Amino acid sequence: MPIVRALYPGSFDPVTLGHLDLIQRASRLFDQVLVAVLRNPGKTPAFSLQQRQQQLGLATADLTNVSVKSFDGLTANFARQQGCTVILRGLRALSDFEFELQLAHTNSSLCDTVETLFLATAARHSFLSSSVVKEVARFGGDVSHMVPAAVAEDLNRHFNSG
Ligand code: ADP
Repeated sequence: MPIVRALYPGSFDPVTLGHLDLIQRASRLFDQVLVAVLRNPGKTPAFSLQQRQQQLGLATADLTNVSVKSFDGLTANFARQQGCTVILRGLRALSDFEFELQLAHTNSSLCDTVETLFLATAARHSFLSSSVVKEVARFGGDVSHMVPAAVAEDLNRHFNSG
């Protein structure tokens, strides 16, 4: 049986408990999971690439078949380079579907040896997005049920220091 290595790409600005739930479930489904933080020139992130990679590394430290890297450029190329045969994406609601389907078709047109697979997000985390978390943190709200403890501290430092 070939080893199945799945790539889970995203901005993770920052990682949420929704992302983590998906990573934990993926780690049980695939031999190896590579979480990849995208340097997206179209977005100005709250956290640097290194910070996001560190936050993810810490949050997934107990998962032995999960590793974290960062990348720029095309996801399909990075998947091929890293020997990943699956690109994993999460679906929170119908509203995610149209964009995700377009992305999946684009990636398969660029590389037909990589399959995009979707996992439904956990219902209890389906309202969560990195943007919502940042919005709550910006106005001093409690984000402890939305992100790992270390990320909650980073958010507090980012928005409320000085
Ligand atoms: P991107 O900018 O690539 O959408 P995100 O960090 O927002 O990056 O999301 C990365 C992946 O995680 C996407 O597939 C997204 O659907 C999924 N995701 C986002 N929020 C959640 C959540 N609450 N639960 C599970 N998966 C999620």
